[in-house]
Amino acid sequence: MKKADVVVLGGLSGITAGISCRRHYPDKKIILIRKEGTVLIPCGIPYIYGTVGGPENNVIPDGLLESNGIELIRGEAIEVDREKKTVVMKGGEIIGYEKLVFATGSVPLVPPIPGIDKENVYPVKKEFEYLSEVHSHMNMVKDLVIIGGGFIGMEFADECRKGRNINVTVVEAMPHCLQAAMDNEYCEEAQAKLEETGVGILVNQTVEAILGKKKVTGVKLSSGKELKADMIILGIGALPNTDLAKKAGLELGFRNTIKVDRYMQTYTDPDIFACGDCAEKQSFFDGRPTGVMLASIATSEARIAGANLFSPTHQNCGAISVFSTVINGRAFGVAGLTERCANQMRAKIVIGTAEAPDTHPGGMPNSCHTKVKLIFAKDTGVIMGGSICGGKPVGEMTNVLSACIMHRMTADDIVKFQMGTHPALTSSPIMYPIVNAACKAVIPLKASA
Ligand SMILES: Cc1cc2nc3c(=O)[nH]c(=O)nc-3n(C[C@H](O)[C@H](O)[C@H](O)COP(=O)(O)OP(=O)(O)OC[C@H]3O[C@@H](n4cnc5c(N)ncnc54)[C@H](O)[C@@H]3O)c2cc1C
Repeated sequence: MKKADVVVLGGLSGITAGISCRRHYPDKKIILIRKEGTVLIPCGIPYIYGTVGGPENNVIPDGLLESNGIELIRGEAIEVDREKKTVVMKGGEIIGYEKLVFATGSVPLVPPIPGIDKENVYPVKKEFEYLSEVHSHMNMVKDLVIIGGGFIGMEFADECRKGRNINVTVVEAMPHCLQAAMDNEYCEEAQAKLEETGVGILVNQTVEAILGKKKVTGVKLSSGKELKADMIILGIGALPNTDLAKKAGLELGFRNTIKVDRYMQTYTDPDIFACGDCAEKQSFFDGRPTGVMLASIATSEARIAGANLFSPTHQNCGAISVFSTVINGRAFGVAGLTERCANQMRAKIVIGTAEAPDTHPGGMPNSCHTKVKLIFAKDTGVIMGGSICGGKPVGEMTNVLSACIMHRMTADDIVKFQMGTHPALTSSPIMYPIVNAACKAVIPLKASA
C-alpha cells in the first residue's frame, strides 16, 4: 500500500493546498489524486471557444506539482476509510494518509427541464475531453442558445462568436443578466456591450422545454415563443461535489457542502480538511452560510487548509466574494456587497461614486472611462463593497477594494490612501476614482454621524 503524510483530492484548490502544505511543511510526502488527466484553468473555460483557441491552451501545468515535490496520481478516489485512514481508487489501489484534504470542487447544475438530456445540450463541465468535444461541435453550429446570463453565460456568449458566424441568444430568468452579481446600472451596461456584438439577450424568460427528437432543434420559452437551436450551453450554477465526503461520513452543511471550521478542518474528523467549492462558506459580512463559488475563495481556503494541516496557522475570515469579468472589451468587477445585497441585508448604507479616465490625460491611446461605486456602512463608515467598470485595470482595482474590505477600512482611511499613479497606467492622482468616491461619501457619512 502506498502511503503519504498528506493526500489531496482535487484540482485547482487541491494544487494550491498541496503547494501551501509544501511551503509550511517541507519534509512531508504529499500526493495529489485527481480524476482528470489534464486540469483546465476553470475560469479560462469560456475563452477556449474564442480568444485562446482551444482547451489545450488553457491548462494548469503539472510542472507546478513537480517543482513543489508533489506526486500526482491520476484516477478517481471512490472511497475514504476514516478508520484505516486510506483512500480507495477506482482501479483498486489503496493509498494511506495521515492528513487528507477534500478539494473535490463542484459540478454543473442541470435543471429538470423536459428534453434536457437531448444531444448537443452541454452543461459547463470542467473536463478537458468533454470541452474539446464541445469545441469541435461548436464549429458546426448555426444557432446557439445559452441558458443563464450569469458571468459564465455572458463570457461564453461573448467568446463563441469570435471567428464564428453563429446566432447566439442568452436566455435569463431575471430582469437583468448578471443580476446576482452586480447592481442594475452595471448589468445594463454589460448587456448593452454584449448586444453590440450581435448576441441576442432575452430577460424575464425561462426555458420551459428543449425541443427536438434525439438532437436539440430549439427551445420553448415561458413566453410561448420558440427559438431555433442546434446547440445549448447551460450556465446556471454549480452544486458541490460531496458524494464521496458524505459516503465517508463527513458532516455536510449548507447546500450539501462539507462542514468546516475557520481552520478548514472538517467538523467530523480532525485529520480531514476541506477547501474550495466543496467546502461550506460563511459570508465575511454577516457570518451566514453563502453559496458563492469562486476561484478567489477556493484558493484562499486552500492556502489556509494547506498551512493548517499539522499546526494551526491561518484562520478563514469568510467569503468576501470578489470577481471580475470582461464583456466586449469592457471590464466589470465587484468586491463585497453590491447596493442590492446591502439592501437585502437591510444594512444602512452611504454610497459614493466617481468617474475618471484610466490614464491622464484621458486622450492617451487605449484610455478607458472608469466608474466606481463604493458602499459604506452608515454608522461606522466602514467599506462593505465596491463595483467598478472600465478597462483592464478594473481587475486589479477590484482586488484593491477587496483588501480595503478585508481590513475594514473606513471612507476616512480611503480618503488618505496614497496611490501610485502614472499617465499611461492609472487615473490622475486628482481624479483617482476609488479615492474620489470615498471623498464623496465622507460628507453624508459625517452628516449622519
Ligand atoms: C466556466 C467557468 C468560469 C469561471 N470563471 C471564474 C472566474 O472568472 N473567477 C472566479 O473566481 N471563479 C470562476 N469560476 C469558478 C471557479 O472555477 C471555481 O470556484 C473553482 O474551479 C473551484 O475550484 P475547486 O478546486 O474547489 O473545484 P474544481 O475546479 O471543481 O476542481 C475539483 C477537482 O477535483 C477533482 N475530483 C473531484 N472528485 C474527485 C475524486 N473522487 N477523485 C479524484 N479527483 C476528484 C475534479 O475532477 C476536479 O479536477 C468559473 C467556473 C466556471 C465553470
